Amino acid sequence: METVLLNEDNVLCDEWPGLIDTHCHLDLEPLSAHLADVLANAERAGVSHCVVPGVHPDGWERMAGLAGRYKQVFPAYGIHPMHAGLADDDRLSHLASIAAAGVAIGEIGLDPAYTIPLERQERAFRDQLRLAVSLGLPVLVHCRRAFQRTLRILQEEGAHHVGGLMHAYSGSSEMAREFIRLGFAISISGMVTRNNSLRLHRVVHELALEELVLETDAPDLTPQRYRGRPNQPAYLMETLQAVARIKGVDPLAAARSCRARSLAVIPGIQVG
Ligand SMILES: [Zn+2]
Repeated sequence: METVLLNEDNVLCDEWPGLIDTHCHLDLEPLSAHLADVLANAERAGVSHCVVPGVHPDGWERMAGLAGRYKQVFPAYGIHPMHAGLADDDRLSHLASIAAAGVAIGEIGLDPAYTIPLERQERAFRDQLRLAVSLGLPVLVHCRRAFQRTLRILQEEGAHHVGGLMHAYSGSSEMAREFIRLGFAISISGMVTRNNSLRLHRVVHELALEELVLETDAPDLTPQRYRGRPNQPAYLMETLQAVARIKGVDPLAAARSCRARSLAVIPGIQVG
C-alpha cells in the first residue's frame, strides 16, 4: 500500500491532498524546542496543516506567536479540563477577547481521571461552549469516560450550532453516532495503530469514513512503530494507514476524506 503514497525517493505522489493534524501541541516541550524541524518533517510526511489546541492560559501567547510565524499552524484557544479551576471570570474574558483569532475553542470537556472535581470541569466546559456558540466557532472536545454527561452538556448548550470534533475518541460506536448527529467529527489518534485497541478498531470499522478525521495529539499517543519517542505530526501517516487498512480503502482515498471532513468541521483553516 505504501507505494501508492510514496515513490522510491520517499516523495509523496503528486495528487497527495495534504493531511490535517487536527490536534497537536506544538507549543509544548519537546516539540516547541525543535519546531522548525518538526514542521519540516510534517511537510515531508504529507501533513500540510496543524491545529494547536489551548491547554493552559499561559500558553495562549505562545500559540499566537506560532500562528504568526508559521502559516500552516492554526491555534484553537481554550482551557483544558485539567486546568478547569483556572476558568474564572478574568481568564474567560481574556479568552473571549482572543478566541476569534483561532479556528476553534479547545480543548474543553470532561475527564474524571483528573483530580479537579467534575462539577468544576463541567462549569468551565459550559462557559467555554457558550463562548464558542456566541462566536460561531467549532469546539475541540476532550472526553474520557464521561460520554453521556458530555453529550448532555453539548446538547443543552446548543453545540449543534457550531459542531467540532471529539478529540482522540475512545468511546463506543453508539455514542459516536450521537456526537455525529450533533455535527461532530470523530477524531482518530495514533492509538488506532496499537494491536490491543480493539474498541477503537471497531469504532473505525463501524463508522462511515466520511465521519472521521485524524490527529496525533503530539507529543503524546505515539503510534506503535515509533513508541518510546515523543509523537510529532509527521507520524500522522501511521494513523492514516491504520484507518485505511481497517476501512479497506486506498490510503489516498482515506487522506482525501479525512482532509475534507477536517475542513468542513473547522472551516477557519485556510488552505491553498
Ligand atoms: Zn490535547
